Amino acid sequence: MNSSETALLDIDKIREDFPILHQEVNGRPLVYFDNAASTQKPKVVIDAISDYYQSINSNVHRGVHHLSQKATDAFEASREKVRVHLNAAEAAEVLFTKGTTDSINLVANSLGQGMIGEGDEIIVSQLEHHSNIVPWQMLCERSGAKLKVIPINEKGELRMEVYADLLSSKTKLVAVNHISNALGTINPVKEIIAMAHEKGAMVLIDGAQAVPHLAVDVQDLDADFYCFSGHKIFGPTGIGVLYGKRHILEAMPPYQGGGEMIAEVSFEKTTYAGLPHKFEAGTPHIEGGIVLGTAIDYMNSIGLDAIAAYEKELLEYGTAQLKAAFPDLRIIGEAEDKTSVISFLIGAIHPYDMGVILDKLGIAVRTGHHCTQPIMQHFDIPGTLRASFAFYNTKPEIDKLVEALKKAVAMLS
Ligand code: PMP
Repeated sequence: MNSSETALLDIDKIREDFPILHQEVNGRPLVYFDNAASTQKPKVVIDAISDYYQSINSNVHRGVHHLSQKATDAFEASREKVRVHLNAAEAAEVLFTKGTTDSINLVANSLGQGMIGEGDEIIVSQLEHHSNIVPWQMLCERSGAKLKVIPINEKGELRMEVYADLLSSKTKLVAVNHISNALGTINPVKEIIAMAHEKGAMVLIDGAQAVPHLAVDVQDLDADFYCFSGHKIFGPTGIGVLYGKRHILEAMPPYQGGGEMIAEVSFEKTTYAGLPHKFEAGTPHIEGGIVLGTAIDYMNSIGLDAIAAYEKELLEYGTAQLKAAFPDLRIIGEAEDKTSVISFLIGAIHPYDMGVILDKLGIAVRTGHHCTQPIMQHFDIPGTLRASFAFYNTKPEIDKLVEALKKAVAMLS
């Protein structure tokens, strides 16, 4: 590790926080480079899950008894932590969901009940994860609205001039990601939002790959909706967030009916609870919601700026090492503004074959289309090999990847 890295972060100390990293896979020390799919959990997060069940497990918002109040307080305190983390105006604008996919489906289903219909247009981009494409396609099928797509250039960046042309008074919603999971492209979301707002359209930002890597300010962005998943920010699976502006959430009908989301129920008429409960039917993922707050505290204890700077260093180092080692390397996605994801191919070798050999050498990468088939169609490839870094990864691990790839190439060429 060089001195500039150690000046930013004490990586050895950070790695001590992650028990899972200290194991061997196939007789080699694990190198975990599949962080864009899911991140590992620090011990404070693992302990917080256990603590919850050992000390305050109880249903929330219902009981007058001690445990229920404790669980409710912890759950709502975590909502407030998310609010601060995203700089939302109020905690009621922070809805707990199962994750990014669930958040997007909530918006699509709710808006589909009369707020988007025949003649309206929804704009997505070619850079989207399937979870920010399919719910909108389903909505278009049901409602008669039309789906429009912002294309990408050869670097994997959005073609903003085409976006400007796609926008019109028919546009009701623009749904794009903040950062592409397949290519690492950081999209100019503030500009995208401002342009949509000029036409009176709402904007949903899929922040699944942004919240793990950088500070997000929903008010500064002026996002109408912003969502992310707990498991990608060092927290539990099955929990995520949908931020929405109050006046929009208030105008939207509920997505699911059930307990928690009502004010009064009779067979003649049911009235709904206020925000955020109107959109949180049923018993929520209580432990997940609480521990999401622990994960956010953990990230903040390291520092979001330090994380972003260190990961940029890993990205630059990894890109340079791979380019130097393999003359027939093809990096898919070379956006000017990019996070710590390297998607690549070497020669004509199928990424899956290489991924299997890397696994034998203890290195976890992802191979395939990364739930972004339209990107693969654009580049006319079946998929890529993707190494995605988190702040607990190191340059020596990248060196191991390069050495393992050399072996794989020798075997497969
Ligand atoms: N959007 C992006 C950009 C993603 O990377 C992912 C997860 N790979 C998702 C959406 C879906 O997230 P989840 O599976 O946690 O709902």
